[in-house]
Amino acid sequence: MAYQVIVVGLGGMGSSALYHLARRLGGPGRVLGLDRGRPPHESGSSHGRSRVIRKAYYEHPSYVPLLLRAYELWAELERELDAPGSLLTITGGLMLGRRDAETITGSLRSAEEHGLAHELLDASAIRRRFPPLAAGDDVWGLYEPDAGYLDPERVVAAQLERAAAWGAEIVTDTPILDWSVSSDGDGVVVRTAGASYRAQRLVLAVGPWVGEQLRAEPESSESAAGRWAEALAQRFVVTRQVLYWFEPSAAAPFSADRFPIYIWETEAGTPFYGFPAQPGPPGGVKVAFHDHRGLARCTPATVERSVSEAEIAAMRACLARHIPTLAGRCLHHATCLYTETPDHHFVVGALPGRPQVILASPCSGHGFKFASVMGEILADLSTSGTTNHAIGRFAPERLLGDADVEGGGGPA
Ligand SMILES: Cc1cc2nc3c(=O)[nH]c(=O)nc-3n(C[C@H](O)[C@H](O)[C@H](O)COP(=O)(O)OP(=O)(O)OC[C@H]3O[C@@H](n4cnc5c(N)ncnc54)[C@H](O)[C@@H]3O)c2cc1C
Repeated sequence: MAYQVIVVGLGGMGSSALYHLARRLGGPGRVLGLDRGRPPHESGSSHGRSRVIRKAYYEHPSYVPLLLRAYELWAELERELDAPGSLLTITGGLMLGRRDAETITGSLRSAEEHGLAHELLDASAIRRRFPPLAAGDDVWGLYEPDAGYLDPERVVAAQLERAAAWGAEIVTDTPILDWSVSSDGDGVVVRTAGASYRAQRLVLAVGPWVGEQLRAEPESSESAAGRWAEALAQRFVVTRQVLYWFEPSAAAPFSADRFPIYIWETEAGTPFYGFPAQPGPPGGVKVAFHDHRGLARCTPATVERSVSEAEIAAMRACLARHIPTLAGRCLHHATCLYTETPDHHFVVGALPGRPQVILASPCSGHGFKFASVMGEILADLSTSGTTNHAIGRFAPERLLGDADVEGGGGPA
């Protein structure tokens, strides 16, 4: 039996793709989702209780239409669950930095180009409205009322639950070993230790395992498509990131109705970001560095999962300077993986020379908020080969411009 689409990897992106596909195609036998673990789990990128979502995107204004659709789809999923507010909490958001910092200028540009609600705050307004933030006199804040956070574990669980309800088949604790294009060229075959599955299309949403899965087509090194896949695999860099939950000296100023999500581009170097206090475990207030420098390169198999006292001390020193009432005890920490591209934009589209296989790598440390709309896009691409969403910026081919692939030409 052949499925219409197989989705490999059921983290934030794959579970969303599965949900959208099942809703669209309906009925058993159409869509299959496979995961090596039992999502939501903590081995990849979609865990840690909170993910920033915002509209005034400093990364580029072209993300804004996708964000507007993402918000609509998050609300739709919550309605389907009959649980409004269960996945997305609106808290307002503050981008902080010097007046010429990218967080300020980029967010302002997106807000103005797309007519998004926002306010530009000077340091005294920041300190008055958000007392825990020790903003120096040269710090500015771009405040947007629509920002907030998503709960990634709840999102993954909800998307899988709804996908199953719409008829998707889900197989967990089952790594795929390899995939190949079927001999008639019209579909794919996916192999696990105990079975092989056929489908017309394959969505690879394997997060930080992307390098491994790009290289998982047997004997592909002999084909141009295989060499393009190898070149693409080399463009991704997986980095270790640490999440910290610190105990505030007083809880009230950090409650979600008084304290926003924020990203702070400090002069000292690596930006850091955080959230209001969140009900439930592990307690405390979450903060993290947004470490794009890729100093700690790794794979999901080699990553150091423990967190050192020196790392905790470095985060505490950053807090002592910027949010002093949070620079106390570290209650909990966790590691997570970013899958970075050189230009920090996502990779979404068919593999060069392999139109049957759609690669979904919306990460570079900022993908989760898009998971809802990515599911819609992946469902479009895997059923019709195209989408109305503007995803040109995410084309895999853009990363291969300078690749030296024997067999010539550019990627198809
Ligand atoms: C610390 C941290 C903070 C972040 N903060 C934000 C934020 O505030 N806002 C935001 O928008 N984004 C944020 N991100 C980015 C966002 O979380 C990621 O872009 C997103 O989670 C990626 O989801 P994914 O589904 O691609 O990957 P994953 O969640 O890692 O899922 C991949 C899945 O593939 C499965 N898999 C792998 N190999 C196989 C195989 N061989 N067979 C079967 N299954 C396989 C894995 O088991 C896993 O379940 C953050 C990421 C981290 C790590």
